[in-house]
Amino acid sequence: MKPSHIEHIGIAVKNLEESIKYYQDVLGLECYNIEEVKDQKVRTAFFKIGDAKIELLESTDPEGPIGKYIEKKGEGIHHIAFAVNGIEKTLKHVEDNGVRLIDSTPRKGAEGLEIAFLHPKSTFGVLTELCEDKNK
Ligand code: ZN
Repeated sequence: MKPSHIEHIGIAVKNLEESIKYYQDVLGLECYNIEEVKDQKVRTAFFKIGDAKIELLESTDPEGPIGKYIEKKGEGIHHIAFAVNGIEKTLKHVEDNGVRLIDSTPRKGAEGLEIAFLHPKSTFGVLTELCEDKNK
């Protein structure tokens, strides 16, 4: 396994529009996409910075993963996503190395990427996402 770059950093926010203003007007990054991911119960906003992106995540349901996260820990960095080639074999490699998977097979994430999460209990406290752009 050798990730090519940090695909994005996921940040949990309470209010997407307000946080977009900060990233756009204060930091000067441009929001190029807002998208709802229904099965994750989130609305997301994306900003490019170099090869990486910032992904803001607002919950659409208090019972969803981001809703629960904010209730427990408040707003802040939620996960880090690595871009990989061959996500299926990468998941197998990770699992063979004793890491607990949240997703044993990839699923569709925002921006049409194939994604899978690794359990933070196995990754030194960092919720880790692997993603692959198969449209490239
Ligand atoms: Zn993500």
